[in-house]
Amino acid sequence: MNLFQLLKEKLRQYDDAHNFTCDLCGREVFENERVCKQCRNTLPWNDKNICPLCGRKVGEAGICLECKKKRLVTDRARSPLLHEGEAARIVHMAKRKKYFCRTAAELMLPLLDEFGADALVYVPMTEKAMKRRGYNQSKEIAEELSRRSGIPLLDAVVKTRETGAQKELGRAEREKNLEGTFHVSDRKGVKNKKLLVIDDTLTTGSTVSELASVLKRAGAKEVDALTLTSVYDKHPFGKK
Ligand SMILES: [Zn+2]
Ligand SMILES: [Zn+2]
Repeated sequence: MNLFQLLKEKLRQYDDAHNFTCDLCGREVFENERVCKQCRNTLPWNDKNICPLCGRKVGEAGICLECKKKRLVTDRARSPLLHEGEAARIVHMAKRKKYFCRTAAELMLPLLDEFGADALVYVPMTEKAMKRRGYNQSKEIAEELSRRSGIPLLDAVVKTRETGAQKELGRAEREKNLEGTFHVSDRKGVKNKKLLVIDDTLTTGSTVSELASVLKRAGAKEVDALTLTSVYDKHPFGKK
């Protein structure tokens, strides 16, 4: 652990010890939870029928329409929450206030066991984007999950090219836009490993899919994905 990591860990320990209110509503919390019981009860949990491949909510049990058209490269993806209401707000806030990344991680933690991953991987940002935001929300969430579970976090992939806003693009356009942007920087670290990609939300799944394909080409045995939310309704491309 270098000095920067040590300081960061100390700050987190301090924050844990002084965490007395719910991140979402400000009510008093006990036992160090970041989200209170009342808020937990009203969050849009993705706990009904889900697609066994991408983890999106489906009307009837079975593989979703998107996966029937074209499967993601990830072996399995899951998300504890639907991308709506307060859950969508957490995703939005995690890009603005770093501590919401820890809120997200707390809500994702119970699903982590399902994967039995050897290591966690985050979605990298370009250096330029990092400078603009100051942090990478995907990495912050993955770091907190690693810290709470003991599963190591790999700095395995770098992003070398800016992809711009993907919000208005459909799945095929997104896939094309992402081609060749990720490069595995730690091939030894990923070889024969069961990896779990951590991100905030799954819309078309193009990002985790592209990441999974470079990791698999580098020799990863299995690549799954865990995101806080997933977009499931008639607008699977995140368009309104
Ligand atoms: Zn609350
Ligand atoms: Zn699916």
